[in-house]
Amino acid sequence: MAHIATITIAATNKQIPVPTGLFINNEFVPSVEDSPEKILAINPATEEVICPVVSASPRDIDVAVKAARQAFQTTWGKNVTGFERSRLINKLADLIERDQQELAELETLNNGKPVKIARDFDIGDTIQCLRYYAGWADKIIGQSLEVDNKTKLAFTRNDPIGVCGQIIPWNYPINMWAWKVAPALAVGCTIVMKPSELTPLTALKLSELVREAGFPPGVVNTVPSYGHVGGAALAAHPDVDKVAFTGSTVTGRKIMEAAAKSNLKKVSLELGGKSPHLIFESADLEQAASWAALGICYNTGQDCTAGSRVYVQEPIYDRFIDLLTAKVKATIMGDGFDEISTGGPIISKGQYDRVWAYIEAGKQEGAKPILGGVKRTGKGFFVDPTIFTDIHRDMKIVKEEIFGPVLSVGKFKTESEAISLANETNYGLGAGVHSSDANQCMRVSSSLEAGTVWVNQYNLLSNNVPFGGKKQSGIGRELGSHALAEYTSVKAVHWNFGEKVDWPL
Ligand code: NAD
Repeated sequence: MAHIATITIAATNKQIPVPTGLFINNEFVPSVEDSPEKILAINPATEEVICPVVSASPRDIDVAVKAARQAFQTTWGKNVTGFERSRLINKLADLIERDQQELAELETLNNGKPVKIARDFDIGDTIQCLRYYAGWADKIIGQSLEVDNKTKLAFTRNDPIGVCGQIIPWNYPINMWAWKVAPALAVGCTIVMKPSELTPLTALKLSELVREAGFPPGVVNTVPSYGHVGGAALAAHPDVDKVAFTGSTVTGRKIMEAAAKSNLKKVSLELGGKSPHLIFESADLEQAASWAALGICYNTGQDCTAGSRVYVQEPIYDRFIDLLTAKVKATIMGDGFDEISTGGPIISKGQYDRVWAYIEAGKQEGAKPILGGVKRTGKGFFVDPTIFTDIHRDMKIVKEEIFGPVLSVGKFKTESEAISLANETNYGLGAGVHSSDANQCMRVSSSLEAGTVWVNQYNLLSNNVPFGGKKQSGIGRELGSHALAEYTSVKAVHWNFGEKVDWPL
């Protein structure tokens, strides 16, 4: 297989060359296997094959880990200054900005999301994320600690943890790449990145930019592969010091197990959610309806923080349902290259079938579909937004993460009932509180079991604010200064400049 595919974007009639090999030591290389597995990258809006990509085998993963280890010990790790790391990360951000439109089109082709959203939000945020962590790279500081001022001093260093395996999902392929790569590079780690088998193309394109920016060979390696093959091999690799993962809770469990059984590598997990919105009677209902619609429709509901449960205070229930239904109905799930689309298709046939199984389960279990719930004909994995009312806590659609534009709406009477409904889940990723009573917002946000609570808004993140989950939504934090701790290992140095020991004591 040649290691470049020329892809034609039909909507813009543009041709984009895309590397299709494994990116190891700054080269696109074939698999070491004689007959390697292939990944077929698909356009979910048309179901057409875009191109085949090499899939890394466990032996390829081993080659990539060796490259990352070699770079860590020679050109990167403690052998490069924070100033230089900062310069290179900033350079990478500039190159992504230069290619923003092309990257967005490639993202849309393989992921399906609207090109304007990919360009302005996903990639806009990616550029900012890289620049944010470039700013940290020369500010990785330890502490000086008082032990005994006359004879002893202790200080700490935040050393780069080493070789990091990073396993990312398909819902934000470029964005998740940046969230993982940027803090790891900032502190001096080297990386073996495994993109999702469903969306390998933009990670490969970004790898070209890594090389162009001037990062030494082996600092960032990209190994598209199937999860149970390359992902599992990376999580179990004895020479990987840390694995960072975003994806399902089921896979997160397997990764933790593999890490425990191999070398007890450090693990951070950003997993699923079943995030609630609480709409109180004092809320600005127009606004609350807009945020709730955004919460379930943005990215076609394929969002770990999708606000997939909405609980509304009884006196405003009917009015809120009308507002919400109108806003959700205005969402257009269409081809991402079509200017009018506000959302794209579901990523794959497998996920499409999974989302439909939930919609059918909702109907069978007695929930009432008041919007959507009807299949489209024609090509593409499109699911129109669906709202269920008359829900019950035991229904699958209320308990399980769907990862599609499917919303369950229920009622509550009192604040304490609302809090207990919201917390009635094994997940703890996000939650929304909508109320114009400031004391209530404070009380409720303090009681919600979630890593992020949004008050009178939803789903907005910022690169300088930590993000992550409680309960079964994950371990560790991404973004902000917190992410730096995920990629460093604290070394304490105790220094004696005067005390003599008299042994035995
Ligand atoms: P997944 O967890 O299987 O895949 C995410 C990543 O993990 C991919 O790169 C995949 O190749 C890799 N992976 C899969 N099995 C692995 C293993 N055994 N060891 C190491 N890596 C492995 O998710 P999915 O199958 O693509 O989607 C299924 C469900 O996961 C979705 O419906 C949704 O509920 C959830 N999901 C959550 C997020 C999120 O952002 N939290 C993202 C994607 C999917």
